Amino acid sequence: MKVLVVNCGSSSLKYQLIDMTNEEVLAKGLAERIGMDNSRVKHEVTGKEKQVIEKALPDHTVAIETVLGAITDPEIGVIASMDEISAVGHRVVHGGEKFAESVVITDEVIKAIEDCIDLAPLHNPANLMGIAAIQKALPDTPNVAVFDTAFHQTMPPENYLYALPYELYEQYGIRKYGFHGTSHKYVAERAAEMLGKPLEECNIITCHLGNGASICAIKNGQSYDTSMGFTPLDGLVMGTRSGLLDPSITPFLMNNADMTVEEVDTLYNKKSGVLGVSGVSSDFRDIEEAADNGNERARLALDLFVNRVQFYLGGYTALLEEVDAIVFTAGLGENSPRARNRICEGLQCLAIELDEALDTGLRGKEALISKAQKDVKVFVIPTDEELMIARDTVALTK
Ligand code: ADP
Repeated sequence: MKVLVVNCGSSSLKYQLIDMTNEEVLAKGLAERIGMDNSRVKHEVTGKEKQVIEKALPDHTVAIETVLGAITDPEIGVIASMDEISAVGHRVVHGGEKFAESVVITDEVIKAIEDCIDLAPLHNPANLMGIAAIQKALPDTPNVAVFDTAFHQTMPPENYLYALPYELYEQYGIRKYGFHGTSHKYVAERAAEMLGKPLEECNIITCHLGNGASICAIKNGQSYDTSMGFTPLDGLVMGTRSGLLDPSITPFLMNNADMTVEEVDTLYNKKSGVLGVSGVSSDFRDIEEAADNGNERARLALDLFVNRVQFYLGGYTALLEEVDAIVFTAGLGENSPRARNRICEGLQCLAIELDEALDTGLRGKEALISKAQKDVKVFVIPTDEELMIARDTVALTK
């Protein structure tokens, strides 16, 4: 059974074709600059040279058609016809309180995803465009929606509510939803396997540290609390996002810096985080390099980032009472021994201690990196959200 996984942004579309008999990625790629000049599809068949298809992609429908054309092309493709695609799995960012699990897409499901647009005005419309484009190109193929928020629907109210008038939760759905759920769930399942325990018996803190970053406290295998909130702006210091802030900064900036709501929103989402503090870059590699070259603000940006991760690790250890494992994943979490080391350095009080000898040359491999005698195991586990989406798609359409 072959499953196509689609992750649609407003001007981009990432895809993977996975053979689910052995979970092998047959082809993957990215359609970018949809609706703009110089649009193209970067298409890669496993083990072969990357192809770049330069083509006008005025909308997502043309982008999907181009991707399907590449996948079925006699020269650069991997399947003979589109009939070989048994089902399509779609990443959908926001499922609100309606979806605690993945679902087969029906007209009612589309309506419910539309109802969540207010909560994710940038993401859900793009996800819906991807679904519509696939339905047009492959009218007889079942589609499944996998939500970033679904895994966190198990959080108890004391962890998901804000201390605002309760009516705002009832009227507008203002609460913590959490994101990156597919990734937190995937690495938690892998960690449980590596611990040799059923997931339902594991307490795990998963650290998804990429350009966007969040931490999740997983109690008995279920999301119990997470650092992202009503939107993916909350929590950790990220590439360009501020994370946790005093809300009073918003009216202060509007009154004193003459900023509009939109400007403040852009400031928090696009100009803050390690980019804003360092003034160097949103990419942690650039910041580590600048810090090594004596750039004080780059060093400060890394310190702020580490400090906030430690803050959550401490808080979540207290919430969970007993922690079996901590997992590092995503771009920085998987690839930066330096970041892992800095984060764990001051946490001996939480029974967290790395074995630096185990934490070298991992390059995308799963590994246990904590000292053997320590109770809290620390793992590096490369995330695989596409595989998770494909697994749910198979489970729901088989
Ligand atoms: P997202 O999916 O949120 O865009 P990723 O999970 O791909 O992000 O992570 C991207 C980030 O990971 C980059 O911005 C970069 O800062 C960081 N990163 C990737 N590789 C390394 C590395 N070798 N060392 C330090 N940071 C890295």
